[in-house]
Amino acid sequence: MNEQNTPIEKIVIIGSGPAGWTAAIYAARANLSPVVYEGIPKQNPSLVLPGGQLMLTTEVDNFPGYPEGVEGPQLMNDIKKQALRFETRIKSLDVDTCDFTQRPFTLNVSDGSVVKAHCVIIATGATANWIGLDNEMRLARSGGGVSACAVCDGALPVFRDQPLAIVGGGDSAMEEASYLTKFASKVYVIHRRDEFRASKIMAQRVLDNPKCVPVWNSVVTDVLGEDKISGLQLKDTKTGEESTLDVKGLFVAIGHTPATKFLDPEQILLDDKGYIQMPVPHQSMTSIEGVFVAGDCADSLYRQAITAAGMGCKSAIDAERWLADQGIH
Ligand code: NAP
Repeated sequence: MNEQNTPIEKIVIIGSGPAGWTAAIYAARANLSPVVYEGIPKQNPSLVLPGGQLMLTTEVDNFPGYPEGVEGPQLMNDIKKQALRFETRIKSLDVDTCDFTQRPFTLNVSDGSVVKAHCVIIATGATANWIGLDNEMRLARSGGGVSACAVCDGALPVFRDQPLAIVGGGDSAMEEASYLTKFASKVYVIHRRDEFRASKIMAQRVLDNPKCVPVWNSVVTDVLGEDKISGLQLKDTKTGEESTLDVKGLFVAIGHTPATKFLDPEQILLDDKGYIQMPVPHQSMTSIEGVFVAGDCADSLYRQAITAAGMGCKSAIDAERWLADQGIH
């Protein structure tokens, strides 16, 4: 089929985490027959799966509606199934590039196909940055006590009254360290320099907390333990000296990277870290009319499954209203 004969989709959703599937549920129920490009698995350097970060999460205890908790992949499967109950179509492909310079928009897909769309919702998420150690990734995937989200995993029984470690010196590391002190016997805050990057007030809260122990000028060089983490191998960044630290949990808080590299920053407004900007307060419209955004690719602050789902809902409602204004129903 040549490009001129390409059918025009009413709405294409890029991304298949809680934001993308929730947008699909709302768009499908509004009879917009959405297509979701759910992505293909990647390993560079950490694992990225269709379904997003919850696919790498063991127990989720804070998503409303699951009083007993739910496994991350099960939750994603449930949201996806709900989207499929209505008229959502799924493509297990990546969108490689987008041309938003004219409408309908043109999306180039990883199988070489081209898709035209009146409206696009970007919900590609963000990936947690990992240190990049083999044993770190192995134990993160197996639920062996390594996590990139203390708010998601810190309250699990396995971490109660245990010594835990946070890596990082930013606001996230401070917030997560303070949060973990509710459960842990001790929280080591391992930072590669001798001063936290975090705002003074958040850093001071950690320094004042008797359960928090800063470990300055240190990097983690290995994660010890077979099925469960038993400790960390550390290296002093100044002296090169190696040491071990006994901990029963490792929380990596060294920032996130939004999955927005496929977008052209000359077309769509991104911030200096690559997060998609939403110029109109409380709305999901991007700098391009007809392109909406939901979830962690536009949110460096909350990064929760439930906030991503909420943004997915908003984006579909905004998109439906915008399409109706264009006379597209
Ligand atoms: P961030 O500010 O970029 O901090 C990342 C931290 O990780 C830095 O201390 C950095 O060390 C360290 N780091 C980076 N790569 C590392 C590596 N490979 N090995 C060891 N350490 C590494 O990220 P964030 O803390 O996630 O915060 C992101 C944004 O959200 C910030 O703007 C933050 O203010 C905001 N935020 C705000 C709140 C709040 O106000 N409640 C809470 C959370 C986040 P260096 O310092 O040496 O570079």
